[in-house]
Amino acid sequence: MTNDEWRVTGKNVTRHTPLVTYIFIFGLGYGCAMKNMYDLIVIGGGPAGMMAAGRAAERGKKVILLEKKDRLGKKLLMCATGRCNVTNTAPMHLFIKAYGKGGNFLRMALEMFDNDKLRSFLLSHDVETVVENKGRVFPKSQKADSILAALETYMRDFQVEIQTNTHVLRLKSENNHVRGAETNHGNIFGHNVLIATGGLSYPATGSTGDGYKLAASVGHSICPTYPAIIAFESEETWVKSLQGTPIKNVNISAYQLNKKIAEHFGEALFTHFGISGPAILDMSKRLVECLPNGFIQIHIDFKPNCSTEELDRILLNQIKRQGGKVVKSCLTVFVPEKLAPVLLSLCNIEPHKKASQITTPERRKILKQLKGLRLTLLRHRPVEEAIVTAGGVNLDEVDAKTMESKLLKGLYFAGETLDIDGPTGGFNLQAAFSTGYLAGNSVD
Ligand SMILES: Cc1cc2nc3c(=O)[nH]c(=O)nc-3n(C[C@H](O)[C@H](O)[C@H](O)COP(=O)(O)OP(=O)(O)OC[C@H]3O[C@@H](n4cnc5c(N)ncnc54)[C@H](O)[C@@H]3O)c2cc1C
Repeated sequence: MTNDEWRVTGKNVTRHTPLVTYIFIFGLGYGCAMKNMYDLIVIGGGPAGMMAAGRAAERGKKVILLEKKDRLGKKLLMCATGRCNVTNTAPMHLFIKAYGKGGNFLRMALEMFDNDKLRSFLLSHDVETVVENKGRVFPKSQKADSILAALETYMRDFQVEIQTNTHVLRLKSENNHVRGAETNHGNIFGHNVLIATGGLSYPATGSTGDGYKLAASVGHSICPTYPAIIAFESEETWVKSLQGTPIKNVNISAYQLNKKIAEHFGEALFTHFGISGPAILDMSKRLVECLPNGFIQIHIDFKPNCSTEELDRILLNQIKRQGGKVVKSCLTVFVPEKLAPVLLSLCNIEPHKKASQITTPERRKILKQLKGLRLTLLRHRPVEEAIVTAGGVNLDEVDAKTMESKLLKGLYFAGETLDIDGPTGGFNLQAAFSTGYLAGNSVD
């Protein structure tokens, strides 16, 4: 008896038997494969990936989320130093404007899942939100982990399978359709794959630009990446002595080749390398874009609401009232205490000189510094220190109505991996949530 005949002893129909067996085995294998076939494989457990996974599962899809770190939402937990500025109350047209060229692309995503819907979603998961200055929305608990808990509950409620410590290495595709992902633990198959791997900043959170490589491997073009919300290093080394000193209600104008390139009112912060703080971060994208053309000079006006003449009157008055005191103490009305000796040294005035001994030319020099302290910005800090990465997957190659790739069927994108970035104020998380929701709502 040959191997082929062993199941049908005594009958001469043995040649058909192996075929049946193979069909059976193939059927069994296929059945198993189909059983392990996901409707959606989400790569990345940040806000975009979690929202997409939850939404697709809520629609009845079989979803697995793969996260390379040991837990989800590491960057989310760092947002706004752990308070998490989830969104903004700005009206739709200002949202669209905030993202610059990415705004129009985001319109559909924002219309489907806007700031109000995000807040309602959070409320339905017991997360109340509060509005702070400039429309910034935070969880009432002031804790980012309440936002993460809401997303984890959402996914758990709809049976999203979550696999941490799982690093996606490659995409699998066949006949111009994505088929799954190769991970450090083996292959996972699915009808759809979502890349939600974030940008390049704070790599310890897991955002190391993997999504760009995955997208590029299937033909997507990646717009050059650079830090969009970032601090700057200055030529002036005296900043070191002011490290950690905030300056409030200042007007900062930035110039390059004598042309004003940006202006912002608000708060800034001296650092050991240069300057940071909200006003600088908000102008930073523009400044980063201009830096390749040469250094940038910023002028800091400490009293933007006073004309030079008005300020001169106030300063003169101060000097008269405090004539016997050192001039340094007259300046603390205008600038933080630590900054006063620096300003005087820039004016070549001895800080312990009596106020009454200040000459008119010296007073003019002080006024000049108060109305326009100059700092030369040489370079930005590295992208790893950025709040958000500009650049990324080219929006022309992604369908704004669904977030699906126009190049490979079944491949989707969401969050910071896309060539989208917004200013501070909750705009980046809203973009991640909106694109994630739209992608999760679109997969077949
Ligand atoms: C310090 C800081 C504070 C911030 N504060 C705010 C704020 O208050 N408000 C605001 O709107 N925005 C804030 N942002 C920006 C905001 O956090 C991001 O824009 C947002 O997290 C992007 O979400 P995402 O889901 O696209 O990506 P991420 O949050 O970066 O998540 C991507 C996930 O993908 C995983 N991953 C990457 N590669 C792979 C792979 N190959 N396989 C498996 N998993 C992978 C990563 O480990 C990570 O968990 C802040 C950013 C920083 C750095």
